[in-house]
Amino acid sequence: MRAYHRLGLIDAIKQQGAITNKTRLFRFDGTHLHDLEEPVIEEGLPATGGIMRPILHRIMQSRVHELAISVRLGLTVDLLQNVDAEVDVSFSDGTHERYDLVVGADSVASRVRELAFPHMGPAQPTGQGCWRISIARPPSFDAAEFFLGHANPCGITACGPDKVYLWLLTPHVERENFMDEEELFTTLRSLLGDFGGHAGWIRETMTRADWINYRPLAAALQPAPWSNGRIVLVGDAVHATTPHLASGAGMAVESGIALAEELTAAETIEAGLQAYERRRFERCRDVVDTSVRMGKLQLDNGPPEEFARLLQSALARLNRSF
Ligand SMILES: Cc1cc2nc3c(=O)[nH]c(=O)nc-3n(C[C@H](O)[C@H](O)[C@H](O)COP(=O)(O)OP(=O)(O)OC[C@H]3O[C@@H](n4cnc5c(N)ncnc54)[C@H](O)[C@@H]3O)c2cc1C
Repeated sequence: MRAYHRLGLIDAIKQQGAITNKTRLFRFDGTHLHDLEEPVIEEGLPATGGIMRPILHRIMQSRVHELAISVRLGLTVDLLQNVDAEVDVSFSDGTHERYDLVVGADSVASRVRELAFPHMGPAQPTGQGCWRISIARPPSFDAAEFFLGHANPCGITACGPDKVYLWLLTPHVERENFMDEEELFTTLRSLLGDFGGHAGWIRETMTRADWINYRPLAAALQPAPWSNGRIVLVGDAVHATTPHLASGAGMAVESGIALAEELTAAETIEAGLQAYERRRFERCRDVVDTSVRMGKLQLDNGPPEEFARLLQSALARLNRSF
């Protein structure tokens, strides 16, 4: 929220997404346990919220267009080479360019990382998989919700005036093929079988027209250095996390802003890149480590109180400015 505020996008996000100031914890059967404090970040800035990804992308794309930033789509990078104080880039459409700086923001399976950072490796599976369904907002839903104490915990997040999404975590079982839409629907409905409250309402209300997705989880905090000459990584390329703190996108946006600010403040690009890494490493490590710990606790069927403690203390640390 703070990062989007700095980018001047917070009003559009508030209007087109959903803001929540509380997280309610329930036993999986719908029995209320307690509510989590979500301290307001700054005057006028809500603690948490949700928005559907295509809507967020539209908001960010319009800003990119307003700023007249040149964008080329539908190509990738084939070769990267630091030459003096510049980078030679060969693109997949056969073109070549030379730049002062290359920022690899190409996500968890980053090609830029593969080409220029031999000391890094792929994200590691955590043993869990995440189900998600995007669906109409249940009546009387007014705060984020977590359903705990079940081998397959789940939660609900508001994503717009009339939309929520429900997530549910299971141990991940490797398989050869992808699930088709029918299998996604029937499996998720059956996984929700024991749940009460709004999770039960979603089980009873979901239809085959609702969007359902399943993804195995993987995470990696890549070892320093995060830059090589004039090539630097941000976002999932260098700090991919699991959804337990719902902070992957937040960390990516924060890292982008921190990189820009440090480059602006520093006397040389090299000093800016080092300052960026110093500023981001610990905060990203905290998010990745805590998220992976929360997932492990769930796989081990750990106590819901321990989960709530990890969640609440991490949110309090994240509340500090980046
Ligand atoms: C199903 C799902 C749900 C999630 N839910 C949440 C959530 O609720 N909250 C949250 O904070 N985070 C969530 N995340 C995580 C969040 O999406 C990521 O942390 C965030 O998008 C990372 O941003 P990024 O800019 O690093 O990468 P991305 O947003 O993945 O963007 C990378 C871009 O690079 C492009 N690209 C990739 N490879 C190449 C290549 N070789 N050449 C050219 N272009 C390339 C891609 O097309 C894409 O446009 C979720 C992730 C998934 C998969």
